[in-house]
Amino acid sequence: MEERNLKISIAHLYPKLLNLYGDMGNIITLAKRCQWRGISVEYDEIGIGDSLKEHDLYFIGGGQDRQQQEVAGELYKNKDFLTSERDNGAVFLGICGGYQLFGHYYQPFDGEKLLGISLMDAYTVAGKKRFIGNVTVETDFLTPPTLVGFENHSGLTYLQGDTKPLGKVKVGNGNNGKDGMEGARYKNVFGTYLHGSLLPKNPAFADYLIELALEKRYREKIELPKLDDGLEIKTHNSLVGKAY
Ligand code: GLN
Repeated sequence: MEERNLKISIAHLYPKLLNLYGDMGNIITLAKRCQWRGISVEYDEIGIGDSLKEHDLYFIGGGQDRQQQEVAGELYKNKDFLTSERDNGAVFLGICGGYQLFGHYYQPFDGEKLLGISLMDAYTVAGKKRFIGNVTVETDFLTPPTLVGFENHSGLTYLQGDTKPLGKVKVGNGNNGKDGMEGARYKNVFGTYLHGSLLPKNPAFADYLIELALEKRYREKIELPKLDDGLEIKTHNSLVGKAY
């Protein structure tokens, strides 16, 4: 990649409340995979009460119902801005609880319904059973096609309209344990139940998101030079198909 002093800006939404199961590892992976290629990263941690400004990529992690409740109110205040960011091509990645708030609502098992910001046409209702364990997903847009991670949620997410799943569940439960699908995508908004954290062991997806963020910022496709992902791929492959 010729010297262009490329940069992406990342907003980390409410990590003091939603950051379960090492979700911060996703930010570290995005930043490192940029820096290893000479792409600079502007990182902003967004807290309750902070005003939002334009970013190329927004990340939000997972958490318990209680933390989701506090974040939901804050996210909802920024719904119009974040919707315009989505329509402007910004990339979003939400993990589990954060993913659930990208939809229209999350109805906990007991407690008030949490309004989401409808970045995607989906909704979540808590089930009686908690889904906990390793997950393998087969996508049709990554090479290798698999995504691996760990799920821990009682929420059952249902996709509608033009919001499509990230892929088919090969191991685990995924969105709702019924339709055999995991995660969601609408425009450049991605959600998944895969904690772990997700991106360190799914380098192809990390690069896919970085390329989308670069395209949003520079309005052209910029192909990332390959990295030596030997260790990452070895880790990824050791988890493909692993149930326990
Ligand atoms: N509280 C939500 C659920 O139980 C999300 C959990 C999470 O983020 N791991 O479904």
